[in-house]
Amino acid sequence: MEPKSKVCGIDLGLEHFATVTNDFGSQKVEHLKYLRREEERLKKLQKSFSKKQKGSKNSDKARLRLARQHAYVSNSRNDFLHKLSKAIIDENQVVVVEDINVKGLLKTRLAKSIADSGWSKFLTYLKYKAEWYGRTFIQVDRFFPSSKLCHRCSHKNEDLALHDRTWCCPACGETHDRDVNASINLYYVGLGRPEVKPVERALVTNRSHHASKQEA
Ligand SMILES: [Zn+2]
Repeated sequence: MEPKSKVCGIDLGLEHFATVTNDFGSQKVEHLKYLRREEERLKKLQKSFSKKQKGSKNSDKARLRLARQHAYVSNSRNDFLHKLSKAIIDENQVVVVEDINVKGLLKTRLAKSIADSGWSKFLTYLKYKAEWYGRTFIQVDRFFPSSKLCHRCSHKNEDLALHDRTWCCPACGETHDRDVNASINLYYVGLGRPEVKPVERALVTNRSHHASKQEA
């Protein structure tokens, strides 16, 4: 089936699992709330198991409960990641994602919760589904500053901090939602490929095109 949208850019985050921009606009994908709850329960079971005396009956019971909950959480998360990646691949011809290994967040103590949120699994699913269905999967260069670039005027905001959820571009005055702006920048990368290189130049070309359309 022909996808409805040519390109889509995906920013992965903590507040929302993903922010997706394609030909039809931007959309935020929530984390599964019930999954968060079940993960809390998993942590409690882990604690309870570690406190039990090894080899005791109670310890055996706790181990079973823990294993069951572990399987439940991991199946639910997998199901979510499969459905979301399939929906994105169905709808878009070119899928652009960032290099999550260098995302600033990973250097912080939030690293654990990110690892748990299934980002890398999600990218793996996207990648092989893209191959199955004849889509193009692009992971941007680790140096591409998807969050810091203003998608409107391409000014690079070096002062952008991790906790800045919104910011105002000092060059053009546009106010950005951090995640939406990042996903739009990734979307532009997809639009510019593969004719124009390097990536930065493609962005500038597409931006001015967009700007003139907006003014008209
Ligand atoms: Zn700007």
